[in-house]
Amino acid sequence: MTDPRPRTVLVIGGGASGNAVTVLLRRAGITVDLIEAKSDWNVLGSGITLQGNALRVLRKLGVWDKVQESGYAFNSVGLATPDGHVFHVQQDIRTGGEDLPATIGMQRPRLQEILCEAVLVSGATVRLGTTADDLLQDEAGVTARFSDGTEGRYDLVIAADGLSSRTRAMIGIGDKPEPTGMAIWRVAAPRPASVKRTDLAYGGPCYIAGYCPTSENTIYAYLVEANRDRASIDPASFADEMRCLAAPYGGAWPEIAASITDPAEVNYTWFDRLLVEGPWHRGRVVLVGDAAHACPPTLAQGAAMSLEDASVLAELLSAEESWDSLSSLDDLLTRYHQRRIDRVRMVVEASMQLGQWQLDGVRDADVPGLIGRTMSVLKETP
Ligand SMILES: Cc1cc2nc3c(=O)[nH]c(=O)nc-3n(C[C@H](O)[C@H](O)[C@H](O)COP(=O)(O)OP(=O)(O)OC[C@H]3O[C@@H](n4cnc5c(N)ncnc54)[C@H](O)[C@@H]3O)c2cc1C
Repeated sequence: MTDPRPRTVLVIGGGASGNAVTVLLRRAGITVDLIEAKSDWNVLGSGITLQGNALRVLRKLGVWDKVQESGYAFNSVGLATPDGHVFHVQQDIRTGGEDLPATIGMQRPRLQEILCEAVLVSGATVRLGTTADDLLQDEAGVTARFSDGTEGRYDLVIAADGLSSRTRAMIGIGDKPEPTGMAIWRVAAPRPASVKRTDLAYGGPCYIAGYCPTSENTIYAYLVEANRDRASIDPASFADEMRCLAAPYGGAWPEIAASITDPAEVNYTWFDRLLVEGPWHRGRVVLVGDAAHACPPTLAQGAAMSLEDASVLAELLSAEESWDSLSSLDDLLTRYHQRRIDRVRMVVEASMQLGQWQLDGVRDADVPGLIGRTMSVLKETP
C-alpha cells in the first residue's frame, strides 16, 4: 500500500492564530506554507492578558515554559475606586485547569517572538512581506497567486489574516467589523512595586482605567473612553492625551503617568465587534481567529478564542488522513464551526455586554456574575 499523498496547507497571516495552527499541523506531518504581509513579522502593542484557556493552548504548542519565564502570572483581579482604593479582590477562575495560573500578562512582542520561533522550528515554510492576491478553487484544491508573482497549489487555505481579513472578503463572506463606540489608550510602562495583578478602576472620567503586569519589570496600562474621530488626534500628542486622561486616577497611576512621555509608545485603538454566524469556510478556504470573530477586550479573550480555534481546527484536520474528497472536507470544516460557534458567540456577547453597561452608565450591573458565568464555561475543554 502506498502512503497517502502529503497534505498541503497555506496559512495566510502569522499572528497568534496562524502561528498556532501552523505548529499543530506541522506536528501531524502536514506541509505548511505560511505567508505574512508584514516584512518584519513583528507585532506592535504594549501587552496582552492571557487567561488559562489561552495558556492551555500555548502549553499544547510546546511554548509554555518560555511563556511562563517571560510573563507575569497572577490569580486575581482588583476592583478599585478612581482614587486607587482597591475595594474588592476577586479570585479568578482558572480556565486552563488548576495546574495553570488563571492569568499571565505578557509583552505582546515577546509572545509573538515565542510563537514565531515555534513556527520556524516546526519546519513550515515562511514567506514574509507576501500576500495572496487571488485564490482559485476547484474540486481538488486551491491555487494561490502570490504578490511576488509566484503560485502555489494547496489542499486547504487557512485565513488567519485578522479582523480586516482580505481572504474573508475574497471567499464571499460579507461580514465586517463594526465599532462598539469605545476606544482604548495603551502604553507599556515600568512596573510600580505595588502592581502585582490587574486592577480595574470604574467610575472615573474614563470607562475603565486598568493595568496588567507583563514581566518582573514591566506593565501595560490602559484607559478606555468613548470613540473620538481618529483624524482629530495628532499622533504627536498621544503621550499628552494619555497622561491627561490618567491624571485624575490615584494608586499606581501617578507613577505610571509620569513614565508616559514618548507619543510613539502610546497606542490608540477603537474597539470592534465581528461575529461570522454562518459557516466559516467556503470550499477549501476556512477562517480562524479574528478573521471570524472579534470583540472588545473587556474579558481579554480575543487571542484566547483565536488560539482555541487553531487548536480545534488542527485537531480535526490531523485526524483525517486525506482531504481529497471535497464533501468530506466540507463535513470536517462544518464540524469545526459547530464546535466553535456557541463558545465564541458567548464570549463576543459577554464582552459586548460588559462594554455596553459602561456606555449606558449602568451602575448596578452584575459584572462579577457575568464574568464568573462566562469563565466557568471556558474552563471546559473546547
Ligand atoms: C485593544 C485590544 C486589546 C486586546 N487585548 C487582548 C487581551 O488582553 N487578551 C486577549 O486574549 N486578546 C486581546 N485582544 C484580541 C487579540 O489581539 C486578537 O484576538 C488576536 O490578536 C487575534 O489573532 P489573529 O492571529 O487571529 O489575528 P492578528 O493578530 O490580527 O494577526 C493577523 C496577521 O495576519 C497578517 N495579515 C493581514 N492581512 C494579511 C494578508 N492579506 N496576507 C498575509 N498576512 C496578512 C497581519 O499582518 C497579522 O500578522 C485585544 C484586541 C484589541 C484590539
